[in-house]
Amino acid sequence: MDKLNSSKRRRTVDDLLQKFENNRKNTAESIMTFNFNKKRVRLLNNLNDVKEGCKGILYWMFRDVRVQDNWALLFAQKTALKNNVALHICYCILPRFLDASIRHYKFLLKGLKEVEVECKALNIYFHLLHGEPKVNILEFVKVFKMGAVIVDFYPLKLPMSWIDDIQNDLPKDIPICQVDAHNIVPCWHASPKEEFAARTIRNKIHTKLEEFLTEFPPIVKHLYISKEKFRSNNWETALENVKIDTSVDEITWAMPGYKHGIKELESFIQNRLKNYATERNNPLSNSISNLSPWFHFGMISVQRCILEMEEYRKLYPKSVESFIEEAVIRRELSDNFCFYNENYDLIKGAHAWAIETLNIHRKDKREYVYSLNNLENCQTHDDLWNACQNQMVTTGKMHGFLRMYWAKKILQWTETPENALEWAIFLNDKYSIDGCDPNGYVGCMWSICGIHDHGWPEREIFGKIRYMNYEGCKRKFNVKEFVAKWGKEKSDNISK
Ligand SMILES: Cc1cc2nc3c(=O)[nH]c(=O)nc-3n(C[C@H](O)[C@H](O)[C@H](O)COP(=O)(O)OP(=O)(O)OC[C@H]3O[C@@H](n4cnc5c(N)ncnc54)[C@H](O)[C@@H]3O)c2cc1C
Repeated sequence: MDKLNSSKRRRTVDDLLQKFENNRKNTAESIMTFNFNKKRVRLLNNLNDVKEGCKGILYWMFRDVRVQDNWALLFAQKTALKNNVALHICYCILPRFLDASIRHYKFLLKGLKEVEVECKALNIYFHLLHGEPKVNILEFVKVFKMGAVIVDFYPLKLPMSWIDDIQNDLPKDIPICQVDAHNIVPCWHASPKEEFAARTIRNKIHTKLEEFLTEFPPIVKHLYISKEKFRSNNWETALENVKIDTSVDEITWAMPGYKHGIKELESFIQNRLKNYATERNNPLSNSISNLSPWFHFGMISVQRCILEMEEYRKLYPKSVESFIEEAVIRRELSDNFCFYNENYDLIKGAHAWAIETLNIHRKDKREYVYSLNNLENCQTHDDLWNACQNQMVTTGKMHGFLRMYWAKKILQWTETPENALEWAIFLNDKYSIDGCDPNGYVGCMWSICGIHDHGWPEREIFGKIRYMNYEGCKRKFNVKEFVAKWGKEKSDNISK
């Protein structure tokens, strides 16, 4: 065991990247010789055949910002090779996206630059577009005569609405299909309905892992190039027309892109995985993966991480199991919830028992009531809560255990559950680098209206929604130390 440990420790990130490259090559020479599992694909307009005489295939990327280990790009390359045409990727920089701030846009943009470089070396065209997809993507398809469109899967209302718009206006002979490159088991295949809780989806996913948790073939140097001259991407002006909050600082602890994501994976495996099962709920112990920024932007594939982690099952069985529970079961459950419940960000999206209990306690007296401004500026009476908020504002990531406490206290200190949910989502999306994600909506819904949870003994304000308190945190970790590390001086202006 020691020998294994020390040999693993000496491995560099380049070794790991090389290993992944070899694994892909050993799986297949290219996507053409690989048996692609069609269950990963949803035909959105029931057209199967690529338009004859077309000049290329378009992969419209918007959730999975990576080249390798990407089932959507693999499917696009397979389609392009089969039809002897060029392969294009478009990414549309939107004027705004939900409550994402400059923090998110800059992280994204740097990741996209890396994608462009990789694409160049592989004869794949990468186009940075600006504005609304229903204009830009459609124009691109028409002007450059694309024969099929392959799109990412992102089960939030806004990205789903882009696809609806495009589907309606796309020339009627161009197929559009969606590939779930974000989940290991494609969301529509994992379950055909909204699942009640982790326990109801767990087995459905586990029994399908043998089929879907497979090695990826490589994206290879594309054989066909275009005769068109394309405008080169202007990275300098890429954010000129965006209308987003620019007051939020960039983060420095996490660097965007595939290589940095793999570096974090390696650091997690070598240094933190061994304690993941036992210590991940302790915000002072450095035991979590910190992979959520790269997972959220699709800069690395969760499937790749799980394949790699399988090798550590013997060494750290409990930790590997716990990581799979979080990164596969809980994460894919979040996509399931947002995909099947259009009210995933509203109280009315909760179960009847939760809505009823929140209504019964709607008028309960709140000892503290804070405004959004108080919350945003860490101005509550609770030093732990203020420190959590400050950690999120300054670093772009609050520890997972404290995210639950943080959101539940917002329920306790706002006038209505509706306000609590809206503000929790807003703050999370604005400051968390992994925000605007199904995991965030489900995290807020779990904390504030009991999604995927069950009823607990009734109490004020919360009713039967699970309660968390300061004393409970003190029993779990050294709150004083956390506050000393992350606390921000309390403002005198606390309005009660
Ligand atoms: C109020 C609230 C808000 C949240 N907001 C977000 C968010 O905006 N984006 C986000 O990715 N996660 C969110 N989560 C879920 C979870 O807290 C984070 O995924 C986790 O803290 C990310 O850190 P990590 O990668 O170091 O986690 P690890 O513990 O190392 O977990 C590995 C991966 O598993 C997944 N995961 C872990 N916990 C959960 C969970 N409870 N539900 C679903 N997937 C999970 C994530 O993809 C995570 O990156 C939220 C949870 C709550 C309670």
